Amino acid sequence: LERTRTDLIELIRDVLGLFRNRPASQMVPAHLAADDDLEEAPAQVDREALRQVMWNLLNNAREAMEENQAGGQIRVSVSRHGNRWVVVVEDDGPGISAELSERIFEPFFTTKETGTGLGLATIHRLIEQHDGKIHVGRAQHLSGARFEVELPADFDAP
Ligand code: ADP
Ligand code: MG
Repeated sequence: LERTRTDLIELIRDVLGLFRNRPASQMVPAHLAADDDLEEAPAQVDREALRQVMWNLLNNAREAMEENQAGGQIRVSVSRHGNRWVVVVEDDGPGISAELSERIFEPFFTTKETGTGLGLATIHRLIEQHDGKIHVGRAQHLSGARFEVELPADFDAP
């Protein structure tokens, strides 16, 4: 990993831009619900790794909503909890049962016909390498799943 000082908000905006431009994603509005008081969210991260984390979470959210008759959306947010950033990705899919949520971070665990089951296992490892954490739960602003990624903030001058 090559960690450099990075603004997580800018990185998330970049990934959302790429995500929205994919034909498969164009039916799924995905937005960053900005905390108005938060101008930037500096952290020491490997940018490629963090892009992969966001990309995986967005694609899982999109795939979870593929059978939604009524469409649905993806909501991303960044907030500060003391010395940590919390990045939240929520969707309008079916959500994740307590039973399933114990297994989704295992390598090769998938419920998809053509899934690899490697996305969450990979990002779990990457986040741990950043001294971070990932939690799964029930969405609070939407109706499906909620993934919370916690990462140490870097408040020191660049
Ligand atoms: P894959 O996407 O290849 O199945 P992942 O490791 O990315 O592998 O995800 C593992 C499993 O976790 C998925 O097959 C799915 O059952 C569940 N999952 C992940 N994200 C979501 C989500 N946003 N909503 C519902 N289920 C999800
Ligand atoms: Mg996946």
